[in-house]
Amino acid sequence: MIEKFKSVSPVQRLYGPDDRIAVLLPLPLAGAYDYLVPSGMTVAAGSFVAVSFGRRELFGVVWGSGSGDVDAQKLKPILQVCPVPVLPSVSREFVDWVAAYTVHSAGAVLRMVMSAPDALKPPKPRVAYTSVPAPPEIRLTSARERVLEVLADGTPRSIAELVRDAGVGAPVVKGLLQAGAVQAVETVIEQPPGPDWQCPGPVLSREQSDAADYLRKAVTGGFGVAVLDGVPGSGKTEVYFEAIAETLKQGQQVLVLLPEIALGAQWLSRFQVRFGAPPAQWHSDLNRVQRRRTWRAVAEGRESVVVGARSALFLPFPNLGLIVVDEEHEMAFKQDDGVAYHARDMAVVRANLGAISIVLASATPSLETVANVRNRRYSRLKLPKRHGGATVPSIAIVDLRAAVSSRGSWLAPEMCDALTQTAAEGSQSLLFLNRRGYAPLTLCRACGHRLRCPSCTAWLVEHRLLSRLQCHHCGYSVPVPKACPECGAADSLAACGPGVERLAEEFEATFPELRYTLATSDTLTGPRAAAELVRRIEAHEVDVIIGTQIVAKGYHFPLLTLVGVVDADIGLAGGDLRAAERTYQLLYQVAGRAGREQRRGKVLVQTHIPDHPVIKALSGGDRNAFLAAEDEARREAGMPPFSRLVALIVSGSDESTVEASARKLARVAPAGDGIRVLGPAPAPMSFLRRRHRWRLLLKTPKNVNASALARKWLGSCRLVNSVRVQIDVDPYNFL
Ligand code: ADP
Ligand code: ZN
Repeated sequence: MIEKFKSVSPVQRLYGPDDRIAVLLPLPLAGAYDYLVPSGMTVAAGSFVAVSFGRRELFGVVWGSGSGDVDAQKLKPILQVCPVPVLPSVSREFVDWVAAYTVHSAGAVLRMVMSAPDALKPPKPRVAYTSVPAPPEIRLTSARERVLEVLADGTPRSIAELVRDAGVGAPVVKGLLQAGAVQAVETVIEQPPGPDWQCPGPVLSREQSDAADYLRKAVTGGFGVAVLDGVPGSGKTEVYFEAIAETLKQGQQVLVLLPEIALGAQWLSRFQVRFGAPPAQWHSDLNRVQRRRTWRAVAEGRESVVVGARSALFLPFPNLGLIVVDEEHEMAFKQDDGVAYHARDMAVVRANLGAISIVLASATPSLETVANVRNRRYSRLKLPKRHGGATVPSIAIVDLRAAVSSRGSWLAPEMCDALTQTAAEGSQSLLFLNRRGYAPLTLCRACGHRLRCPSCTAWLVEHRLLSRLQCHHCGYSVPVPKACPECGAADSLAACGPGVERLAEEFEATFPELRYTLATSDTLTGPRAAAELVRRIEAHEVDVIIGTQIVAKGYHFPLLTLVGVVDADIGLAGGDLRAAERTYQLLYQVAGRAGREQRRGKVLVQTHIPDHPVIKALSGGDRNAFLAAEDEARREAGMPPFSRLVALIVSGSDESTVEASARKLARVAPAGDGIRVLGPAPAPMSFLRRRHRWRLLLKTPKNVNASALARKWLGSCRLVNSVRVQIDVDPYNFL
């Protein structure tokens, strides 16, 4: 994955009047554009500047000296330098590196860095009010008196604060202002104290403290990748918290990448307990103001710890000292759209460019990471035991071929017995089914018609909670029709197969006395809903959680002792490169939710294929044997991590143009020793969001720079404007 790295250059170039400089704009264009520094202005490499571009005024970053390709007379001057710190050279190198690796333009990557354009403008001063000796003729109502009483302590307050603290309306404050009894002053917002490394942590076990010692040393030791490999509940989080404390002690910033924000609720409260203050958060749910503030605070080095989704990797840290990627094996770190990148891999690159330490934590490390441990690029730290003597749960297989199941019933008798018994013991259960909605397919009993998305090669999924049919690929949604849209037969539509909503229906009918809650991305719509779910479960307000993968990971529920996997076979059907690995990881994670404290956990896995290697590895508890077998299979097939893949997805609204373009690309495909191009072929998802899709897959040996090869390939082939080629280096999605 990682090739050569340039060393970080600490020199900061300065440019003065009449210097010609290159400015990179956050646009998916070819590269940087030349501008002139006007008289009276100095800019540095990395300065954020405003320039005119066509008729627009845009913000960009000074990337270095100008190319000199354009006549000086034709160059436009820079309009202004933004009042923010320069983009550090390591961030600029990172942009160039990611662009080269992902075969996108540097501008497209810079756009991910400049994700809060408001932050480049000067912050608005905060206006607050203080009291001044009131003119004698002032009329004092009781509301006005309350405001003056609040202000008597001398602290300036905003209107909103006065409204809250004095219990008055805003016009009261404005009246006092007009009457000359209060005055407006500009204040700076006080930064609350940040995370404190001196807060005491827990007493670590022997193994935990060995790992923590290693990581603490690593923090000051330059670039290095440590894989924190420990069973769920072994204390990985507590251990990397020690590395965070050490980094803070060194006065440096920390970035923690988490795969899902829903996972954040418990994580955030643990962080707060450990360090006495919350970290900054960075994810797509932030509003504009939060983005602006956080981006700026990170750039100015005022935020010391950021926890975020993959996009947080592109924040302009001036002083980053440690990156932690928790659940490093998670697919959620891979972005498929736009600049397709894997945040875990790019985090390793960022750490290398910054000569800092990075921790990859997982109970089920990815095969890529295992391979890097084997070839000694990464070091492995093991935590083989659950903390506090909690034992690893027992895993039993329920062979569905033997179980007699009646129609519309998805729970085998053994599963039902276990649920009853668990509730009787005062414990909680999790029923896991990784399928949102009510049923994955709806068909007409009269004519056999299946309800399909008009824009995609996909069935519509019934969501009974919403009374709608939805496409899980493009978001298309319609009310459930009363009659078959094909033959018109009334009340003929039948649901096929279970989703969690249907499972909940069966559960409710079978166990009317048990309290359950449904946890899917449809019900857990944000951090607040996730926090409320956690609260209800911890308060024992539910006996059973019925959920998708959204509750499979990261959570720690002390009373949860039974995990029931309703259909272990779901992920194995697709047959893509990582189907087995991914299914194993998911089932292992979900099993890890059971029995995390004193009460022993039990896992029941319903399957039709008990002899499948994934199911056997799971019940045998031999993770390393499974990884070794997977690794061997990949080696034999010459697949990653033993080779490199680059996917090209050609798409457009006209099917024959798409096909012709894909064939044209194939005709000029790169050739060479061990280099192969698979396809062109229609994508399995051959129609998506109203676009037809064809795929090609470039496969090269490890020692070939596949990105450069793909860039050259694409550059050598002119395609019509109506088709788009999406490049995906190290693809995870083959649809
Ligand atoms: P992992 O990240 O490996 O799943 P966690 O760090 O979440 O494990 O630890 C699991 C639980 O055990 C958490 O509630 C954590 O606070 C607790 N724990 C782990 N190590 C210790 C320790 N040394 N002292 C006290 N509690 C611990
Ligand atoms: Zn669709």
